[in-house]
Amino acid sequence: MARHRWNKIHDHRKRCTVCGLLADQRPHPYRRQWWTEWSRNGQYWNTLQGDKTPPCQPVDAVQGA
Ligand SMILES: [Zn+2]
Repeated sequence: MARHRWNKIHDHRKRCTVCGLLADQRPHPYRRQWWTEWSRNGQYWNTLQGDKTPPCQPVDAVQGA
């Protein structure tokens, strides 16, 4: 499975240069920890609801073939 190639935007935000997945680290409202939210093409995932990092799906692979 393809790996994300992260391009750091700032300390708590990075974007995959392959699939365009955006990852944001956010401070937890109640606990002293960070949680992560991913977004891509209107889809969202986050660690608060137990999601794992979504797989890397290169745009070319979706549009091609
Ligand atoms: Zn990716």
